[in-house]
Amino acid sequence: LRKHERSTEEIVSGVKAGIRSDLAQAITLVESNAARHFSKSQDILGQLMPDTGKSVRIGISGVPGAGKSTFIEAFGLYLCSLGKKVAVLAVDPSSSRTGGSILGDKTRMEQLARHPQAFIRPSPSSGTLGGVHRKTRESILLCEAAGFDVILVETVGVGQSEAIVRDMVDFFLLLVLTGAGDELQGMKKGIMELVDAILVNKADGENAAKAKKSAEEYRQILHFLQPATEGWETKAFTCSALYEIGIDQTWKTINEFLETTIASGEFDNRRNEQKKTWLYTSVKSQLEMMFFQNDEVKKQLPIMEEEIREDRISVSVAVNRLMEIYKKGQ
Ligand code: GDP
Repeated sequence: LRKHERSTEEIVSGVKAGIRSDLAQAITLVESNAARHFSKSQDILGQLMPDTGKSVRIGISGVPGAGKSTFIEAFGLYLCSLGKKVAVLAVDPSSSRTGGSILGDKTRMEQLARHPQAFIRPSPSSGTLGGVHRKTRESILLCEAAGFDVILVETVGVGQSEAIVRDMVDFFLLLVLTGAGDELQGMKKGIMELVDAILVNKADGENAAKAKKSAEEYRQILHFLQPATEGWETKAFTCSALYEIGIDQTWKTINEFLETTIASGEFDNRRNEQKKTWLYTSVKSQLEMMFFQNDEVKKQLPIMEEEIREDRISVSVAVNRLMEIYKKGQ
């Protein structure tokens, strides 16, 4: 970034022309925590805003081993074969702790990564979950400005990240495995109420019949749950990412979903709600950051901790004092 940093104008026109190195650089700027990159990335985004919003945003979740990368590779290549341009982004809840990245492994999605119509971006490797999700939203917009028709947002199913991804996509897909009996017990109802389709993956060979039975069980349970999207009955069916079975059905289902929700207005409703949520979440995280970076607050926090530990003051009193200290410093 430092060596070949291009000007705002160069990046903006490069992204508009679909030049990947410019898109990559724009995303790097958005992901950067350096203050000097903030205004530049916001400037770039601001200029590109009229070119955003035209893709289909699809979230894909599932526990490790469910087959997410195999599925994304097969699905992505299928979409490319239909003439679509496909971008893959990731929300990685573990990245802030481990510094690792679920898409960091270069061997994943090898074919898709090499495809001229595809763009794969490893997840941001720093920052809090909240920060990562701001960056992913902005990366989605950048990919749209670069002309990508379908944006796939991958996340590992560990709970918290699903709600965050739900808030940035149009359609949300959950990949699961058979052995549903136990899994259904353990699976949080909450997650099933966040998704628009559940795909029982690895429905091949000896596992095919079991997978079909699982999908049926999911359908029965879904019947009693609140659907994630008003006017859309959450679907459950099988697929084999490895043998590319059910990939076309997935795309067909997504198109049915789009038709239904665009006609009912639910599609636009959701996108508007998402923008609103984004605004409030951003304000909250900005306030939090300003508060904890305040020098006087930083000084007083350990003192307050001590006071609370010793039961000399209540938490509410400590909070009030810290807020006063913070406000005075503004
Ligand atoms: P992820 O951790 O969710 O990204 O899962 P991967 O895509 O890495 O898949 C985990 C393992 O399951 C790999 O060994 C895949 O080859 C295998 N796998 C993925 N999809 C299928 C499938 O549809 N059928 C079979 N038999 N194996 C699969």
